[in-house]
This record gives sequence, C-alpha cells and structure tokens, in this order.
Amino acid sequence: MRLEIVESTLPGTRFNTGKAEDPDIGINSLQNYQLSPNHYFILDIRQGEDDHKYAELVLQKPLDRESDHFLQLILTALDGGEPRKTGTAQIWINVTDANDNPPVFSQEVYTVSLRENSPVGSPILQVKASDRDEGLNAHISYTFSNIAKRAYQKFDIVPQNGTITIKEALDFEETEKYTMTVEARDGGGLVAHCNVNIKILDENDNAPEIILASLSTPVSENAVSGTIIALINVKDRDSGENGKITCHLQGNVPFKVASVSKNNYKILTDSPLDREKASGYNITIMATDKGSPPLSSNKTISLQISDINDNPPAFEKSTYSVFVPENNPSGAPIYSIKASDPDLDRNSRITYSILNSNMEELPLSSYVSINSETGTIYAQRSFDYEQFREFQIQVKAQDGGSPSLSNNATVWVYILDQNDNSPRVLYPFPGAEGSALFEMVPHSAEPGYLVTKVVAVDADSGHNAWLSYQVLQATEPALFSIGTHTGEIRTSRGLLEKDAVKQNLVILVKDNGKAPLSTTVVLNLVIAENFQEALPEMTRQSSDSEHHSDLQFYLVLALALISFLFLLTVILVIVMKLRQSGNPKLFQCFEPNTFSKAQVIFPPNYEEGTLPYSYQLCLSSEMRKEQISFPKPHIQVAENLLCNDSSQVVLVDGNCGDANAKEEVGDQVSYVFRNSDVDTTALLLV
Ligand code: CA
Ligand code: CA
Ligand code: CA
Ligand code: CA
Ligand code: CA
Ligand code: CA
Ligand code: CA
Ligand code: CA
Repeated sequence: MRLEIVESTLPGTRFNTGKAEDPDIGINSLQNYQLSPNHYFILDIRQGEDDHKYAELVLQKPLDRESDHFLQLILTALDGGEPRKTGTAQIWINVTDANDNPPVFSQEVYTVSLRENSPVGSPILQVKASDRDEGLNAHISYTFSNIAKRAYQKFDIVPQNGTITIKEALDFEETEKYTMTVEARDGGGLVAHCNVNIKILDENDNAPEIILASLSTPVSENAVSGTIIALINVKDRDSGENGKITCHLQGNVPFKVASVSKNNYKILTDSPLDREKASGYNITIMATDKGSPPLSSNKTISLQISDINDNPPAFEKSTYSVFVPENNPSGAPIYSIKASDPDLDRNSRITYSILNSNMEELPLSSYVSINSETGTIYAQRSFDYEQFREFQIQVKAQDGGSPSLSNNATVWVYILDQNDNSPRVLYPFPGAEGSALFEMVPHSAEPGYLVTKVVAVDADSGHNAWLSYQVLQATEPALFSIGTHTGEIRTSRGLLEKDAVKQNLVILVKDNGKAPLSTTVVLNLVIAENFQEALPEMTRQSSDSEHHSDLQFYLVLALALISFLFLLTVILVIVMKLRQSGNPKLFQCFEPNTFSKAQVIFPPNYEEGTLPYSYQLCLSSEMRKEQISFPKPHIQVAENLLCNDSSQVVLVDGNCGDANAKEEVGDQVSYVFRNSDVDTTALLLV
C-alpha cells in the first residue's frame, strides 16, 4: 500500500488499510492484525457488518516531514490455526511537506561598518535566512520591513539573496548610522526578521572652511608689533583628526596668525610696517586639517596701510651751487630746487621757503625769492659781479603733515663775471682831449728806450680784465712800439734829425673778453733833452690849439702843479698801502718808473690784481674753462709777493705755487698753468 500523508495531518486521523482474506473457517480463519513498531501509528481493528475484521491506521502524534519524510510499515494478518498462519503487507507512507517552518536568519543582528565614500551599487552585506521546508515553502524572499525613509533612500536589498547594496552616496556628515529590519518571507507566507546596523566611517572629504569674522583696514604704518588686524574662525565638518585644523600665513609677510580659542584665530602684525615700502598686503591664510591625506583651503584678505608723516622732505644734496652770469634779468628763474617726500598726499606736499642768507646789507627778499610750490628760485635783481660774487641762502622744504617735517639745504649762488667794464686808463690821466701831458724823449735815446708806460685797469676779472695794448695811430708809426701786455712804450730805433719833435700816439687798450671792450688814450711825446727844450714845443702845441699868448706861463705852472700832485699821490698811495699791508715789499712788484711820472690813484672798486703787471698770466684753453666753472672770488693781495724760486708764483693764500712753464719775452714773463689744482682765478702773479 502506498499512502501520501501530509505532515500537518492531525493525530487521530484514520487511514484505511484494506482487509486480509483467509478462506479457512472458524478459528483457522483471520483473527487479528499486527503493525510493525513505529512512532506515529497504531492499529485500530474493527469488525465489519459481515463480521470481517479490518484494520485502520490511526495517527497517534504529528508527523514531521523535516525529520521523517518516508515511513515503511508492515501490516501482518494472523489466523487462529495451529500453526498460526500469517500474511503481510507493506505500507509505504510518503510524508508530504506542509509549511510548518518559518525562515530563520543566520544572525539576529547584522552589523557592518562602511566608509562614507563607498561607491554606489556596491554590496555591503548579505543577510541569510534558511527554511527547513521544501519547495515553495522554503522559497525565501527578503525585503526591508521596518526602515526609516532616509535609510530606504540609501540602501537596496536584493529580494532573492538578501544582499544589501548602496543606492545613493553616503555622507558621514549627514548620517553616521542606519538601522533597519529585514524580513524574510517563505512561499507559504511565514516570515522572520533580523536587524541590520550600518555604521558609516568618516573619511577626510571636507576641506577646512575659513570665515573672516572681522578685519580692520586700513592699518596705520606706525602700528606697533602685535596689533590685531583680523579675526577669523575655521570649520571642518569632518570628525576626529580629519576635522582638526592648523592655520598659517602664506608668503613672507610681516604678520602672524595666533590661536585665540578652538577654531578661532587672530592675525596680528609681527614686525614694523612701512607704507613707503608696501602700501598694502594680500594676506593669504592657509588652513590644513590633519586627515590623511590632509585637505587645505585658503582665504586672502586685502589690507591697506595708511600713511603717517614719517619722512621729512629730502633734498638730493645738502649743498647746491648755482652759477648766474651777472647782469641777469631781474625776476628770471636762476635755479629750481627739488626735494622729494615718499609719504602720501598732504604728508608729501612740499612747500619751499628761504630761511636766511649770508647777505646782511639788504633784506633777503631783494636778492632772491622762491616759488613755494615749485621750488624755483628767482633773482630779484640784476647781480653785479663787481659788487659781490657769491652769496648763500638756506632753503627749507616742509611737508604738509601734522606735525610737519622739514629739511634744509644750502644754495650757494655764484655770480659769473661778464665783460661789462671797459678798460680804464689810469696813466696817462685821460683828461680833456688833447691832454697837456708830455713825455720827453731824449735825442740820445737808444733803440728800446723806455719812454713811458700806459697803465690801465679793468674792473672785470680774468680774461675780461686781461688787457692788451696796441698803437692805433702814430705820427711816426715805426718809431715807437708798445708792449702788448706791459703797456710799455719804447723806441724802436734811434732818433733821427728828421723825426718830428712832437709825436702823437693813440693807444688802444683792449680787454680779452669774448666781446672785447676797449678804450683809447692819446700820448704826446716831445723829443727833447729837458723841459727848457721841450717847452717851446709844448707852447707851440698849446698856441696852435688855443692861440694863447701867456701859454708858456701856464704850462710851467701846470707842470709844477702836476709834479706836485703826482708826488702827493705817490706819497698818499705809499701811506695807504703801508697801512693796508704793513709790508713795504708790496711795492716791489711795481717798477719805479710806473709811478715816477704818473698820478696813479686806485679807484675804490679796483683791486691791485687788475694792474697791468698782474696780467702776465697765460691760461691754457682748458684753464679758461676751469676759470668759468670754478669761480672763486675775492682775490686778496698776498702779503709776500715774491717767491724764492723765480719759477714760482705767489698764490692767494701767500704760498708759492709751481707753474708748468715760464716764458720770457723781453721783460715780460708769462706763466702757464695746466694743472687744474691751481685755481688760477685765485692767483696773483708778480
Ligand atoms: Ca516554511
Ligand atoms: Ca514542513
Ligand atoms: Ca577635513
Ligand atoms: Ca567626512
Ligand atoms: Ca613727509
Ligand atoms: Ca609714511
Ligand atoms: Ca672788461
Ligand atoms: Ca664784469
């Protein structure tokens, strides 16, 4: 017999096994049934209406397919004969499945840790449930049964195998942990649940954030070290080391960053500031976390430095030399002085003024003025080199700061000589035309006889006062010659009988200026041995010109008067010089005959240096330039006008200096200087 019994069959359920046959009669016929020993079934023997006995299987306790899915029983039919005969039948029972087992998870709680940057779609965990049933009853499908909406957005579960995958990118900073319940359901509708805990691990995926809390700009350039200029706070959304921040400043700036409290920093000055070097800074703050690898971010703040008046105006030089040719137009600019101030705006706005000068005679304003804005210096008058040759002023440059700063510079104004004075003849005294002066030339005069000497001066300096003499017109041109530089008139040949007794010479005295100026003087010469002989000539000349009968008397009187005046003048000059110099040697430089007949009176403005003997000075062409470039005024007469060595000359300081060359032509001596160490304008030659 084959039976199929579902395992869920309730105990007490009966199963018919059919009946056995025995053709014997009575006791020898079928009497009883027996069942092989088993755990589930007993035999219930019943007697039908025809008295035939049959057996029924009665389920005693529930079947379980999961432990015994096939049972094999032996049913034995017994008669009562002697010997007892039996018949057997095999009963094969196939226990069919009922869904009596729910799925069972392998773990009640699943826990997994997951990096926040795990890729979407990757499996993170597989939950596993088993079911002891078979077929559909053991077919399990998995679903989330109790899950927060946020978790549901992030995770997926594969129903067939319980694999949980990432549906959407995870962020530790958003959610650190997810819990959910997974349900396993078999085909028969039985369910089981498990809990899944998903823990998210932090990754360093957030760079620090820098927030500028306050900034004080501009900051003054005189701010002391340690002045706070900005407050910042920093944030990092990560945790642990990934969220720990250190700050520093980029580049070489005079600032530093210091921590105030956790995540709060201050930026302060670290060394003195100077707006003139840097008027502003771009400060870059760098914040770095301690993650691995570390992330960093930066923020740049702009800081302006405000100006302080910490620089006085500066002149390029402390002393300026300005050269102004004399006779300059009044009111013309002579120089522009410039000071610079590196400060800003008002602090660098310079005003110029003249403080004082070394001119005491007249108020400063009558000499120069200055444009307070441009620094241009104007001459307020036409300067005269012959009056003064230099002066000095103090120019002040002041800025507009508060308090203001200032600086001074000295400006030396040197007046350059121009040839604005004609030579002036001192001897012969240029009186009225047709001067009554006569020079006598003896008949016996040899060639080269010194007749007289023309003495002239020039108020200018240097070349402008370097005089030369020439005969412009003569009664007998070949008879007399004049020393170009000495002014000495000498006979060129012996005197002849036929020579006119009276000789007229027109002498031209010319300076050596660029535009030379000149003057003329007329000399009357009489060839005679003495006054008596000359007198008629003089008389004749006078009567020729004036037709005066008493001329002889007046001439004598005039001569006497002139002689007297000349003597008086000479005495006066000697007395004056002795008082000035106290050195009688002074006069050794003048030849006696220069003074013997002439009335030499020194005009107050003329210096001895302008006398003819002082101009035995030759300058090389370079020296002429030197002379103009380096005017050193105020020639003073040295006390000792003689040097021991004849090739030396006396310098203005009284010392003797060497000339490069000395040339002698006749009695004229010329010294040549090529060495610029010798300041030729400060030189007096004897
Ligand atoms: Ca089941
Ligand atoms: Ca089952
Ligand atoms: Ca971080
Ligand atoms: Ca993170
Ligand atoms: Ca300044
Ligand atoms: Ca400044
Ligand atoms: Ca002159
Ligand atoms: Ca002059």
